[in-house]
Amino acid sequence: MICAACGKQQDTKANRLPRGWKRREGEVFCAQCWGNRFVLRAITIPIVGPVDQEWSKLREVLGTAWSQTTELSNWLLTEFYANDVRRDSKMAKLPPMPATYLYPQARRRFPNLPSYTVAAIEHAVRGKYRTSRYDIIWTCSKSLSNYRYPVPLPMRSDGWKPRFDSEGTPLVDVRIGGQRWTLRLRSGSQFARQLTAFRSMVAGEAEKSEMALYRQKTSKSDHRSGIEGRAPGGGQRVHYRVMCKMVAWIPRPQSEQKGAGSITLRSSPDSFWRAEVEGSQTGWVLHADHVRRWQRAHERNRTRLITDLKDGKRCSARARRGLSEQLASCSEKYGRRIHSFCHEATAHFTKFAGRQRVARVLYDDSERGFLSEFPWRRLRELLAEKLDERGIDLVGLNVDDQAT
Ligand SMILES: [Zn+2]
Repeated sequence: MICAACGKQQDTKANRLPRGWKRREGEVFCAQCWGNRFVLRAITIPIVGPVDQEWSKLREVLGTAWSQTTELSNWLLTEFYANDVRRDSKMAKLPPMPATYLYPQARRRFPNLPSYTVAAIEHAVRGKYRTSRYDIIWTCSKSLSNYRYPVPLPMRSDGWKPRFDSEGTPLVDVRIGGQRWTLRLRSGSQFARQLTAFRSMVAGEAEKSEMALYRQKTSKSDHRSGIEGRAPGGGQRVHYRVMCKMVAWIPRPQSEQKGAGSITLRSSPDSFWRAEVEGSQTGWVLHADHVRRWQRAHERNRTRLITDLKDGKRCSARARRGLSEQLASCSEKYGRRIHSFCHEATAHFTKFAGRQRVARVLYDDSERGFLSEFPWRRLRELLAEKLDERGIDLVGLNVDDQAT
């Protein structure tokens, strides 16, 4: 295989692309040349409704698909666990995860899900299990978690097509449950950034990747067509909207120039992040004490609600339902807060790194003392994404980074 841009050669088996290489319009590019030209972006736009079809019909097919993706994810997770080692006194350390190939079995169990969807979910669940198995099997500090309905429905790059109708409304053609659908997306000024990327997908300047459909809770006040449901146990009515997440390689702005040198960024025991610029006295700290306070308050709240729930004799079924709804909504609210903190923190640091004009960020998040429970993996993904948009590489310094 020869890179169309730099002429680099690499031997491959049976015309398969080497890792990181990409094919576009009949040409192949090595990982480096591809990364110089494109940047991977995900945009999310809510769906207004199906074109020429009923919402109720769409709700039905999505409901079926999401039941299957959720069931599949939970089945995979328990299979990975069941096939894994059990800790015994002869083990000095946790052995690597056994090679478990579940795809063929998963396909047989879920014949109605497209092969790509099964493969993508298998990959995601495997990754999630791999990062948590140390806590589950070795330290036993966590129990095996559970995927909650609905797990997003992923589709392969050629399974969806973005376009505009004659009035300039953004649409997506897609197959769900073996049927063709045209979905109308929201437009308007608050989606300007997303629509710029969407336009470059329609024009073919961008290289499409995965798309996923999922749902998001929404407040009753915005009257948008969507999905209505009830909390488990038949409590309050909940409103949802369906979101369309589109992933594509977008052309990298020409103005970007590669910097030089590096910054070391670490999680630290007394603050969230600390950074040092190579060969300079410049430092950068993100304290984020407020996140610690949120975490403590959330933990207290949760413990209280769980205690009340367990003390079942004293309360009626109705009161218990109220308590479990409160529990779910407080967890969801906390999750959303943490999620937006992750976005802010990574954006904030990326700005700093951009000002320093570095080529690389050396990243070590192995210290977890400041926050015991935190989506470190998600944070790292966001950081890598944002740095990549500025042409800065993220290099992992953790022990497991060295191993792989
Ligand atoms: Zn190349």
